[in-house]
Amino acid sequence: MSEVRVRFAPSPTGYLHIGGVRTALYSWLWARRHQGTFILRIEDTDRERSTDESIQVVLESMRWLGLDWDEGPEVGGEHGPYVQSKRLHIYAQVAERLIENGHAYRCYATKEEIAASREAHRQSGTKDGFRFESPWRDRSGAPEDSNSRHVIRFRAPHTGTTSWNDAVKGRIEIQHSTLQDFILLRPDGMPLYNFGCVVDDLTMGVTLVARGDDHVINTAPQILLYRALGAEVPEFAHMPMVLAPNGEKLSKRHAAVGVLEYRDMGYLPDGVINYLARLGWSHGDQEIFTRQELIEKFSWDRVGSTAGRYDAKKFLHVQAEHLRMLPDEELARRVVPFLADLGVEVAGDDPTLRKAIPYAKPRASTLIELAEAVDYFFRPVVFDEKGKRKFLVPGNAENLLRLAQVVEAVDPFDVETLENAVKAWMEENELPMKNVAQPARVAMTGRTKSPGLFEVMAVLGKEKTVERLRAAAEIASSAEAPST
Ligand code: GLU
Repeated sequence: MSEVRVRFAPSPTGYLHIGGVRTALYSWLWARRHQGTFILRIEDTDRERSTDESIQVVLESMRWLGLDWDEGPEVGGEHGPYVQSKRLHIYAQVAERLIENGHAYRCYATKEEIAASREAHRQSGTKDGFRFESPWRDRSGAPEDSNSRHVIRFRAPHTGTTSWNDAVKGRIEIQHSTLQDFILLRPDGMPLYNFGCVVDDLTMGVTLVARGDDHVINTAPQILLYRALGAEVPEFAHMPMVLAPNGEKLSKRHAAVGVLEYRDMGYLPDGVINYLARLGWSHGDQEIFTRQELIEKFSWDRVGSTAGRYDAKKFLHVQAEHLRMLPDEELARRVVPFLADLGVEVAGDDPTLRKAIPYAKPRASTLIELAEAVDYFFRPVVFDEKGKRKFLVPGNAENLLRLAQVVEAVDPFDVETLENAVKAWMEENELPMKNVAQPARVAMTGRTKSPGLFEVMAVLGKEKTVERLRAAAEIASSAEAPST
């Protein structure tokens, strides 16, 4: 295969949509699989909607996902600049070439003329879509004032067809009778999407263009542009949009769609990538893939031509699997900012945190859940009110005190020794587990659910365990007895 050069060309208009990122991901995987080049290009010609902040969001989102780019903003490359608004001189040159070779023309039609033409079309009652037929298409020369405002239009063919073999959708053919003389450059020199895109893909040497299938309608005009420029046409891969569970196009109304929202929700980048990869691509029945496996296994022929539907539960499940795959020390490091959000300042290599992670991780799907599953080791217990009312009652005060005494004498203070000592004490006194375990759990964690009792004690350490059991005994003895 010749060199693979693929690109992702988002328009920076707020956040980076996870559906869009899926196409970026497929291109990135393809590039990495073939030691190719992955280009990031910012399509910011919609000046009203594009902001520098949004460009930063794009870069940050891509970086967080680990979709590194070989050419593009901040890393540079031979074909820059990689931001369209900085490439206007290139578009002007290429447009000039197209005018010279007869494939484009300056159109001086005014807004009023176009509006009048549209109105005449409406009144004619025809069902065909409106297609502006510029009087300048076949006119040579310019108006008296040749500096007057004009756009540059492509001289589109009216007969025949354009077709291509789409890497995802198979053969697609478009009738030229549907095309109009689309605008290449606006009066201010800004390119319209099709023109900017082709000039950039061409000058950047892109070999395969992957994007959402909302762009299928743009592909025939783009192919015509390549041909008019005497250039080789790249391959195209159009993939179906990601849909919401109800079949609508996935939007904010259905789920978090901005990439960084997932970061803030405590998702892991590899889990996001795994889920997005599977949403439209398959490799047998396999659901869980490492990043490396995806690189090794990705191919366009396994990208489905029907739309994948977003499934929040499945997404969370994939997350949880990736959380479990991470080494404990790495998880400890990554949970730190989420603990900070809960008001707990602790270092990633804190020994208590390191000890707690293996017990907490089977209970968590995201880093937020993981933080919530270990925060009580580092701060005063916050009682779950229901648990407190039910278990910290006068009838349990004595057992809590005695349990404190038992564990105080345990040495070494590890899970096994604790379990043996506490169980021996319970057997001796014929105390059922339920009379001891839940009150002790609430005493130490504030909650009614947590990892095993002895694991919690071992992580908490002797001093804090004893202290918390005693404090809870105090609360229990002064609580009102339950009314039942
Ligand atoms: N800026 C376009 C978009 O975000 C890019 C389409 C393409 O990849 O050609 O939809």
